[in-house]
Amino acid sequence: MDPETRFAHLLSRCREGGHRITPQRVALLRLLAFSKEHPTAAQLYAELREHFPTTSLATVYKTLNFLTEMGEVRVLPFESDEKHFDGLDPSLHPHLICIYCHSIVDAHEVEDEAQSLTQALAQKSGFQILRHRLDFFGICPKCQEQNPDKHGSREPY
Ligand code: ZN
Ligand code: MN
Repeated sequence: MDPETRFAHLLSRCREGGHRITPQRVALLRLLAFSKEHPTAAQLYAELREHFPTTSLATVYKTLNFLTEMGEVRVLPFESDEKHFDGLDPSLHPHLICIYCHSIVDAHEVEDEAQSLTQALAQKSGFQILRHRLDFFGICPKCQEQNPDKHGSREPY
């Protein structure tokens, strides 16, 4: 889904749910629909604050929570870091995760394989599979180019 359509969809879901449509909320929905980076609540908050200095982190969480309950946002939790949010594509899909810079990108390259893997497993195990988390951890191309000593600033995953 393209971000503009995704944004319009999120907005109409908010209206359906009876949630107030404030300029801050519209801006947050835009960020969610257009972010390919799977931001954390703190990152969304920081971006929002640039245009709406009075926005609170609680407001950001409130919106994220009801969108998650509606199935419009997918939460990507990590043991050693904050939660990340996927508002661009809440459907099940694999991710590539950099252990150094913590970037998260969609692994579109293996989406079909992930689906057939799920089907094969359901068939062989008799399990009714409802969801999966398929994360590939590694070092992104940008971090591979950097001096390994410079990776120390963040705790690796
Ligand atoms: Zn990286
Ligand atoms: Mn994603």
